[in-house]
This record gives sequence, C-alpha cells and structure tokens, in this order.
Amino acid sequence: MAGEHDGRHALITGGGTGIGLAIARALAGAGAQVTITGRRLDVLQMVAQGSACITPLKMDVSDRNSVAQGVQDAIARHGPVDICVANAGIAEARNLQKTDFDFWRKTMTTNLDGAFVTIRECLASMHDLPWGRVIAISSIAGLKGMRGGAAYSASKHGLIGLIRSLAVDYLEKPITFNALCPGYVQTAIIDQNVSRITARTGMSDQQARDHMVNVNPHKRLIMPTEIAAAALWLCATGSESVNGQAIEISGGQV
Ligand code: NDP
Repeated sequence: MAGEHDGRHALITGGGTGIGLAIARALAGAGAQVTITGRRLDVLQMVAQGSACITPLKMDVSDRNSVAQGVQDAIARHGPVDICVANAGIAEARNLQKTDFDFWRKTMTTNLDGAFVTIRECLASMHDLPWGRVIAISSIAGLKGMRGGAAYSASKHGLIGLIRSLAVDYLEKPITFNALCPGYVQTAIIDQNVSRITARTGMSDQQARDHMVNVNPHKRLIMPTEIAAAALWLCATGSESVNGQAIEISGGQV
C-alpha cells in the first residue's frame, strides 16, 4: 500500500530514542526514508535493524562540522531532505548561581546552535523542492519561564524565535516551519530528572516522578507517540497553512 510520504527523505536528530524515535517510526510507517542521527551509533543501529526504511547516522549536533558532514552523507544516500526534524536536546535544570558559563554554553550549543546548523544544512538541499517541512522540538519551557531552568528555557525560547523567523523568511517557498512544545513526556529525560531531583531534595523516586506528573495539567506523562502524531499531522496534506507556529502539547492550558 502506498504511504503518504513514499519517496520522501526525513532527517531526525536524536532519532534513536524517545520523541525522535517515535517520530522516526511514524514517518517510516508513512513511507518515508528516515535518517536518524545521534552520538551513540550502537543505539541508532539497533533501531535501524527493525526497519528497512530507517538509516542510522552518527552526528553530533554540538559540532557544526559533524552536522555539515552528516547531512551531506544523508543526502548522498537518500537525496535532498524533505522533512527536517530538529529534535536532539539535553534538559538539565540548574538555578542561576549554579549555571556556570560552561553549562550555559553546553545547553545553547546542543539545543539552539544544534538546531540552527541542522536546519540550515537541510534547507540548503530543500530549497528547490516543491514541498518541505521543518519541525523543531521546543518545550512548554520555550513558551513560559521554567523555575530553576533558565538556560534550558532560554534555549527553547530561542528555538521558537528561529522557527518563527524562518517561516517569515521562506513565505514564498512551499516549506513550513513549526515548533512542537511538549510538557513532560515519558522518555529518558524524565528518568534523568528523577535521579537529579532525588539527589538534590532527598525525595523518593516515586515522589520525584509524581512531582513531574503533577506539572502536566492532565496529571499524566505524555507519550512520545502523542508528539509523533502532531509531527505527522504537520507533514500531512491539509497542514500547508500551519506555519511559524509554536504548538503546545502539554495536557492543558499553560
Ligand atoms: P531523549 O534523551 O530520549 O532524547 C534526546 C536525544 O537527543 C537522544 O537521542 C540523544 O542521542 C540526542 N542528543 C543529545 N545531545 C546530542 C548531541 N550533542 N548530538 C546529537 N544528538 C544528541 O529525550 P527526549 O526524547 O525527551 O528529548 C527529545 C527532545 O524533546 C529534546 O530536545 C527535549 O528537550 C525535548 N523535550 C522533551 C520533553 C520531555 O519531557 N521528555 C519535554 C519537552 C521537550 P545521543 O545521546 O545518542 O546523542
């Protein structure tokens, strides 16, 4: 059966785990050739073993040469990138006095510089295509302040500024640019946060997990597949007029 994205090439940073993986599987299921990238090749290879439509590619988004080379390699293998998903990111909350310059730079380099370079390199190939989609995974922390998480929140606000500006820059092209802004999603990032909260506050694992669950207005963690469903919709016929938006998926009003 023909898929909606047959013949299209999607590149997803951080596509080996969590939200990126759910989006990779959804797009591959709809017929796209999907290149998944990350720093851990073994993780990517394991995912690719399960699908003929998924290609693993080692690429560190905090290293612009690695991104330039990686995107070039992906294009050489599967052609121009039709769908670019800038998803790779790190999420660690630190209050201002514990935010030293190295931590600030690491957060920005990964979450914001990484998305900028990935999108720029993919767009170079997308430019003359009759259709294109750019999706960035921001956060509700990109829409409002995050207590004790200024660096992360600033990086995710920056991502939305990047997406909104590119949407305006490319209005004459058949390419849309949107950001998805999830609340807490059940991924490795939650497990890492639980460990940090328990170490910092003495809470039990369950208390730390409950704390995050309760931040989502609907009082449950969001599933990665829910974010993938939104990404799939942004790539579907009928979404052409959705452009430059920061779409909140948080389980209720922020
Ligand atoms: P994961 O930890 O599962 O995913 C993060 C991915 O990013 C990993 O696959 C990781 O791969 C990749 N990555 C991290 N740093 C780099 C780097 N320098 N170069 C290349 N790849 C990198 O968590 P999520 O799926 O939750 O996170 C995906 C995105 O969603 C992030 O941007 C995050 O900020 C955002 N988000 C997550 C929320 C949540 O509650 N989970 C809520 C809102 C937004 P590797 O380590 O192999 O490089």
